[in-house]
This record gives sequence, structure tokens and C-alpha cells, in this order.
Amino acid sequence: MKHKTIIEPFKIKSVEPIYVTTEKQRIEYLKKAHNNPFLLQSDQVIIDFLTDSGTSAMSAEQWAGIMRGDESYAGSKSWERMENAVKNLTGMGYILPTHQGRAAERIIYGHLGGKGKTFISNTHFDTTRANIEFSGAEAIDIAIDESNDPALIHPFKGNINTERLEKLIQEKGPKNIGAVILTVTNNSGGGQPVSMKNTREVSAICKKHGILLLLDCCRVAENAYFIKHREEGFENKTYEEIAQEMFSLTDGAAMSSKKDALVNMGGFLALRDKAMAEACTMLLIITEGFSTYGGLSGRDMEALAIGLKEVFDPAYLEYRIKSTAYLGEHLHKMGVPVMMPIGGHAVYIDAKKLYSHLPVDQYPGQALACELYKKAGIRTVEIGSVMFGKYDETGKLIPAPMELVRLAIPRRVYTQSHIEYVIETFDEILKEKNHVKGYKITKEPKFLRHFTAHFEEMK
Ligand SMILES: *Cc1c(COP(=O)(O)O)cnc(C)c1O
Repeated sequence: MKHKTIIEPFKIKSVEPIYVTTEKQRIEYLKKAHNNPFLLQSDQVIIDFLTDSGTSAMSAEQWAGIMRGDESYAGSKSWERMENAVKNLTGMGYILPTHQGRAAERIIYGHLGGKGKTFISNTHFDTTRANIEFSGAEAIDIAIDESNDPALIHPFKGNINTERLEKLIQEKGPKNIGAVILTVTNNSGGGQPVSMKNTREVSAICKKHGILLLLDCCRVAENAYFIKHREEGFENKTYEEIAQEMFSLTDGAAMSSKKDALVNMGGFLALRDKAMAEACTMLLIITEGFSTYGGLSGRDMEALAIGLKEVFDPAYLEYRIKSTAYLGEHLHKMGVPVMMPIGGHAVYIDAKKLYSHLPVDQYPGQALACELYKKAGIRTVEIGSVMFGKYDETGKLIPAPMELVRLAIPRRVYTQSHIEYVIETFDEILKEKNHVKGYKITKEPKFLRHFTAHFEEMK
């Protein structure tokens, strides 16, 4: 018999309580958090969709690995296992462990960046952009045009616009391009996948001009799922083979293993070039730790090596992608404007369309994030002009291309009934959408302002 219901392909051995709060309490909590869900305490949250980063539930095997962790300072067996797992996946010769993705980013973009350099990506993730800009370089996003229309259906909305890539390379001069970065899946661009065809084209363009191609591979397994099911010629390949082929087209990769390696902490930088790896290893040792742990415990590395295998299990990936789609498609059917098609790790709501009465400088995405919390204790994140907005010389907001709210689904954490609770909340969100007020920023830091900014509701 073929079942329609996708069940969670795991059972629960250890549970964590969720504290149920009232709307009245949550209004108070949010006020104290200056209307920024990042500043809430976790026990004030019922369903935490803030991020899928580091929030995975580990398997029994991974917990067993935690006990096996070898905490030797140098040459740990756990490092050997992690290094082998990463080498096997990426096919690259030089692996540097880091405590998370942005440590790998700071090292590689600190090394390649600097004033006068340009980096080009489908979409730089916020920490990627921050590390590049912090080095003095500029970061330009050139996803295909289809990616900026949230309602449009396209199988690989994460693709890079190769015509614009060629033009930009001519314009800036190949030697001024620090690297081209393919982010798979495209997190800030709606969790949308990149096709193998696009990767091959981008790789060929980079080779022709002698430009480095890097993979931001946080969700390379989820991306492989989409390739297998949407791109011709990959039906009979395993998810791991698809990921390996993608790595084979690049010169290096940075991973936040807090995503598709199913761990709570960890990351790595993988490189092909020896001289580059040596320069980066020096930076690693200065700020992260020795080259056989890079800021990770032996047990973290052990769990990472195991997670990197588990994530390619077909039963897991099918459950993962289909359960995200279940939430997204229900919201879509109810009339909630969601980014289509549904991405791998999250559902993205088009807040500009939902709250069409709010101008972008009143941050409709922030307004929706606050509503979801107040109504149901659901914590989400704005991915719009709060995260990516800039100011012109007169202090006027240069808005982001889209005003999205991301409902990121932690891996192996929530069950179907949690998801039903979220779906139900949107009935209320839709009913009250015309009465929602915008927000203004009352305090913000210079970089990555969304983490710590304070907001006030408009009168
Ligand atoms: C999470 C993430 C990063 C940064 O990784 P951290 O582990 O949070 O430092 C970089 N790129 C993408 C696409 C990400 O999703």
C-alpha cells in the first residue's frame, strides 16, 4: 500500500518541555524585548521558527558519538573521522574545522577580500555579506530575475543570472573579483535550490576568467533533493552523489554544519589549493584553535561526521522537504502570500503583500513577526529591509528587494500537530491583517542590525 501521509521517520526518545504562555504575557514579553524576537527568552516561545541553525535534534547515533569524542588537543580521532567525512563529501584535499559557518567565512573572506574586491553571489547570506563588507570588499547579489517575484513558480529560483555574471566580471575586471559564491540552497532568497546546470555554467565562466568559485554549502543535501526530483538526468543518482558532483565543480566550500550536518555547533572550510589552505590555516590557529579542532570539541566533530552521513538518508530528506512543503502549501491554499515554490528549510511569507497597507520603511516583515509571536508564541525572523536595508546619504531607507518573514523549521524537532497549530494561527493573522501597524527602529548597530535592533510600534 502506498500511503499519503508522510510520517516522521524517527521516534522520540528524549523530550523537552514547551512552556505555554498567554497572549497577555506574550505582549508583555515582546515589549521587554523591544519588539525584536531575537531578544526573547526561549521559554517565552512556544514554536521556535527563528532558525533551523543549530536547532536540530541529534540522533541516538550522534549522542553515542558524543561519548566517543576524543578530546585530544592535536590529532584527535574525532577530527580524523570528521575530516574523512568532509573529504568524502567535498572531494577537497584541505579541510579546516571551525566553530560555525561565519568563522570559516571570516577566514576565507578576510584572506580573499579587502578594499577594491568584489564578491558575486546568487544571494550572500547576512553573515557572508557582513564578513565581506567588514574586510572592505563589496558583495553583489545576482540571482535570476524570477527569484524576486515571490509568487512565481520556477524549479530553481536560487540560480545565478549568468549573463549578469559575465557583464559584472567584464565591468569590474576578473582580477578584482574575490570569488563567486553559490549559496545552496539560497537561504536569504527563499531557500530556493540551484540547479546542476546553473552550477556547471557558473563554474565554466569562473574557469574561463580564472576566478575562484566557492560553495556556501550549508544546505547542500536539501539542494540535492530538489535536483534529483526536478532536474533531468539525476533521477537515478543518490543524494550524496549529486552533492559530490556539485562540489566537484567548485574550488572551495564553507559550511555552517549547524544546518545540514544535523549538529548544534560546527562548521568547516574546504579548499583545493594548498597555498590558500596554508594561509587560512594560519588565520584559523590565530583566532579559532589548532588545525585539528578549530574551536570545536572532539565530541562536536564526532557528531558532525555522523550527521553529515545521516542527512543524505532518503527517508530523512523526503520527510524533511515534504513536511516543509506541507506547511507552505496549506498556507498558500488559505490565501497567505507565500514564496513559491516552497523551499527546503523554511516557508517564507511575503509580508509586503500581506500587509500591503504598510510602506516598506515601516517594516511589514517585522510587523508580521511581532503578530505571530503575540498571537501564538511563534518566533520567526524578518528577512527584508530590517535585515538588508541600507540608508542613502540623506538617511532615507534603501529597502531590500523583498519583505519576507521566514518560518525556519528545525530538523527532526517538531511534529505534525505543532505544524497544525501554526497553520491555525494564520486564520487569525489573515482576519486581522488590515489592522496591523508598522514599526520604526529606535536603536541599531552598524553591522547585522536585525540581531539587536530595538523597535517601536507606529502610533
Ligand atoms: C547559517 C548560514 C551561514 C553562517 O553560518 P553560522 O553557523 O550561523 O555562522 C552562512 N551561510 C548560510 C547560507 C547560512 O545559512
